[in-house]
Amino acid sequence: MKQRLVLASHNAGKLRELQALFDPGALHLELLSPQGLGLAEPDEPFGTFIENALHKARQACAATGLPALADDSGLAVQALGGAPGVHSSTYAGALTAQAGEDREALRRRQDAANIARLLNELASLNAGRQARFVCTLVALRSADDPEPLVAQGRWEGEILSEARGQGGFGYDPVMWITEAGATVAELGHEAKNSLSHRARAAALMRQQMSQAWGWALG
Ligand code: IMP
Repeated sequence: MKQRLVLASHNAGKLRELQALFDPGALHLELLSPQGLGLAEPDEPFGTFIENALHKARQACAATGLPALADDSGLAVQALGGAPGVHSSTYAGALTAQAGEDREALRRRQDAANIARLLNELASLNAGRQARFVCTLVALRSADDPEPLVAQGRWEGEILSEARGQGGFGYDPVMWITEAGATVAELGHEAKNSLSHRARAAALMRQQMSQAWGWALG
């Protein structure tokens, strides 16, 4: 029997990656997107990834009555004391949509503004450019599930001084992965999905869904 799981993210880039990482065909899952269910975009009021992910998963469960998986993630730059961290999505300040601008166009403009702020901050510091992507996944069977499943993944890299590549989303064009000899935006979807912070967290989450929930996820 197929398990139904709400992917509690309104970010199209994340959704694409989570859909591939929790491949419905292979994993006996039916994945539901919050937009498809008409859910409002959740707030992220907390100072840690784990609290925000739990909050988003709980809101999605409460609204749908279905199990939900939420992702809270971001970029942590060592020389900036871990910033932008939980503020990664709106590091340059939250932009508002212009006339006729759809969600994805706004997201691209926001990503470009966030990168511009990051590069400015780093240019004014004479420090290293080590950084990591962090992904925290939380899954709940119901809004009052007392035993959330939690999985975290990290991916180390370095921030370049200019953007390179067209793929991915967010800070991908400035995140240089030494072992790959490319920025994340220059890696294809498949390579990103085999190496990334989200891929690592998803692998751990799939194991937990199998072990703790008895889901046949292989
Ligand atoms: P959230 O929706 O609060 O979890 O925001 C996540 C933000 O972190 C995104 O908007 C991106 O700016 C950044 N981020 C998270 N994961 C990635 C990734 O895989 N690549 C690039 N940026 C990411």
